[in-house]
Amino acid sequence: MVMPEPPPGRDPGRTRVLHGAAAALRAALAACADLIVPPCCLVCRARVSAHHLLCAACWRNVNFIRPPLCDVIGIPLPFDTGERTVSAAAVAHAPAYNRARAVAHYSGAMRTLVHQLKYADRHDARTLLGRWLAEAGRELLPGIDVIVPVPLSRLRLLQRQFNQAAVLAGELSRQTGIPANPLLLVRTRSTRSQVGMTRDQRSRNVLLVDDVVTTGATVETCARTLKRAGAARVDVLALALVTNEAMVAP
Ligand SMILES: [Zn+2]
Repeated sequence: MVMPEPPPGRDPGRTRVLHGAAAALRAALAACADLIVPPCCLVCRARVSAHHLLCAACWRNVNFIRPPLCDVIGIPLPFDTGERTVSAAAVAHAPAYNRARAVAHYSGAMRTLVHQLKYADRHDARTLLGRWLAEAGRELLPGIDVIVPVPLSRLRLLQRQFNQAAVLAGELSRQTGIPANPLLLVRTRSTRSQVGMTRDQRSRNVLLVDDVVTTGATVETCARTLKRAGAARVDVLALALVTNEAMVAP
């Protein structure tokens, strides 16, 4: 004798079982996906648990730049004065930009992440770097009208180099909702920049984004060009900063 099945949706017990089965199936599919492409650390490729992008050792090896910072050039200061402090370096050589911030020192795991950026077609890698940029630049972002990547020099363009700054600017724009304009600043020679700002683009606040800031000469040139073209405020946000500390860090 065949017992008639209760109509679907009428039996709460059966609904629970179906939901449970669906959840189990989803978990099994996720486990299969992990087996096909096991989650691995972005830096050292070690296996990591799901939803982790860096292993614990590589996390510890990102030398994040933390306050207290020089309010102008964003380098770490030895102690907190409890108020806005400007480093001696920024006083001695006042930059053309207003304020700069960077996520981490150019050392350890960050150096590897920057080198791998051009291969970082992994969406989650870009998301992580964008989130770090947004966090490091949280003081700069309010009032910013446009995000502009530091452009490649013509020489590098001819060598078909990949503009990592443009990828970072695009990701930051996606996460913050602030528009990015990769063509606002065009480098006409390897050392000089040119900007084509329309009348309504003037008096705007610009955030320059770069992957690594070394001597600051490039961002300085870009900032001066933008200011000359009428930008009201130019801030700088980078993934990594080359500092003396980075030279001695692992
Ligand atoms: Zn790792």
